[in-house]
Amino acid sequence: MIVLVVRKRRLPIFLVLLIFFMVLTCLIWKVGQNQPQPCVQPQDVIGEVETSIKAVAFTFDDGPSPQGTRGILNVLAQHQAKATFFMVGTQIEKYPHLVKEVQLAGQEIGNHSYSHDYNIWDNPEVAIQDLKKSEQLIYTLTGQRPFLYRPPGGFINEKMMEASKEHNFRIVTWSWIQDTKDWKSPPAERQAAHIIKHIKPGQILLFHDGWGDRSQTIKAVDICMEKLSAQGYQFVTVSELIRLENQE
Ligand SMILES: [Zn+2]
Repeated sequence: MIVLVVRKRRLPIFLVLLIFFMVLTCLIWKVGQNQPQPCVQPQDVIGEVETSIKAVAFTFDDGPSPQGTRGILNVLAQHQAKATFFMVGTQIEKYPHLVKEVQLAGQEIGNHSYSHDYNIWDNPEVAIQDLKKSEQLIYTLTGQRPFLYRPPGGFINEKMMEASKEHNFRIVTWSWIQDTKDWKSPPAERQAAHIIKHIKPGQILLFHDGWGDRSQTIKAVDICMEKLSAQGYQFVTVSELIRLENQE
């Protein structure tokens, strides 16, 4: 009789405990769901910008260089265009006056590393030193610290994306469909035709003002800007393009 009473009294306690633990498990799970995600998100890398405003960003890598930078600056001036130059530290050391010219022309300067070593992010500490070295060169010449970083070769890894949060820089690649491989100097008309065919608001277009003869690139940019202006496009820096995100 006593045993039966004990059993009768224990049963509700067991049920209460079961419900308590179920609720607790749910709460822990729910809190876990609301935690900020520590992992990096795909939008940490800017390849192009979602906007319906007719604007694109021309970008020029691997300079400054005597073969390309001034020619590009002239074309930009003719079209009253803005663009972004992703400069390499070793080139900045060789041609500091061209860095100043780019700044005086009101164009944006981004960081394209010091060494242009494709594998440097295998060791993040070395890569950060490399990035900071180039950043310091730009700062000394212009008084401005670039916050846009284009990784050499466009190669990205998780460590770089984590470092971009810690060291406060933004990784910029480009619209892959628009890569004309201008550094191989295909004919300007062919490059321009490709760009114009695939143009879309918010794209980031990749060209090079560094390394070798850049005459086909300069001509291609001129043709693109002429044709795209006629279609109502405006040419902005990468920073300006980012600010147009989700605008109509
Ligand atoms: Zn490059």
